[in-house]
Amino acid sequence: METLVSRPRINLKFADFPLVIRKSKIHRYGVYAQERIPANRKVIEYTGERISRAETKRRGEGEYTYLFTLDHYWTLDGAFGGSGAEIINHSCEPNVVARIMKGHIIYMSLREIQPGEELLVDYNFTYTGDKSRCACGARSCRGVMEKLTPKLTRDLINARAARDAKTPRAAQKTKSATA
Ligand SMILES: [Zn+2]
Repeated sequence: METLVSRPRINLKFADFPLVIRKSKIHRYGVYAQERIPANRKVIEYTGERISRAETKRRGEGEYTYLFTLDHYWTLDGAFGGSGAEIINHSCEPNVVARIMKGHIIYMSLREIQPGEELLVDYNFTYTGDKSRCACGARSCRGVMEKLTPKLTRDLINARAARDAKTPRAAQKTKSATA
């Protein structure tokens, strides 16, 4: 199933600060602060249709998904009844963080956010063998949107080693040329 939020907008009922949706350099659209947001404040609640584990699995197969895991059973699908928080892009250097409070997903500011700044959250996807490439452009970008675990770290190192093995190094070329 593939559902694309075609005309994303902010539902002001769930936002504690004025926010606006604009085109983003990172991915399609992004959510931007219109006013200064102090650190450690509730910025917006992530809302959406509450769906079960089986339904989450079914919907998770599309290219664009707006799924947010609430607990071991429930997931919110921001494509339906989303507050606009589902449009917030991933970054390896986020300025908001998701906190689960009494069954609600609340995006809190990690630091002071300036007017015009894009809101960014670390998706911290669970790594199950598939990597989602990250293009956030942050200096500390880890290259993937999954949460780093020992297994993911190993797989990333192995993938890099396999790539390097395919590219002949200058030293190896010199050696074969003189042999
Ligand atoms: Zn990144």
